[in-house]
Amino acid sequence: TRAGLDLKALIRTIPDYPKPGVLFRDVTTLLANPAGLRASIDELIWPFLGAPLDHVAGIEARGFILGGAVAHELGRGFVPIRKKGKLPYATIGQDYELEYGVDTVEIHADAIGPGDKVLLVDDLVATGGTADAAIDLIRKSGGEVVAACFVIDLPDLGGAERLRRKGVTVHTLLAFE
Ligand code: 5GP
Repeated sequence: TRAGLDLKALIRTIPDYPKPGVLFRDVTTLLANPAGLRASIDELIWPFLGAPLDHVAGIEARGFILGGAVAHELGRGFVPIRKKGKLPYATIGQDYELEYGVDTVEIHADAIGPGDKVLLVDDLVATGGTADAAIDLIRKSGGEVVAACFVIDLPDLGGAERLRRKGVTVHTLLAFE
């Protein structure tokens, strides 16, 4: 980073979580580090300083932490994208495929207006399935996804490429093979 910080070294790797054979990249150690948190937010926002933008949307749950800070720094409001049944007002939903079965993300029906420009934030892109569904939700709401940004990319799983094929600009800070 410009701050000369090794963000990757601040991410903890947990073997066999949430199931055997998975290497979970734990960002709580990065979020808990004051210089690490600040550098992460600075690096996430720099391409969008001065860009036309109406909202920052974050995906539950770690996307709320990063997205809230990104929205604050960019001087925009924050829009939550949540798992099914968590939002109190009228919602729009989008199903997406999991390894086994299907899940749903939701957004408040009035959160994004027609033509609004939205920056999407999450901690990590793996297969891209979650972000893909979030992008569809924003588009269904009439919004335009300016870009999707993540701290971590797992390029072997192809998620960032999948999102680029949908016509979305993708910004990531670091990669784990
Ligand atoms: P995808 O839908 O791209 O396959 O998975 C990305 C979503 O799952 C993100 O919301 C992300 O928070 C979560 N996720 C999947 N694997 C990991 C991981 O190793 N570490 C973290 N922190 N989140 C993960």
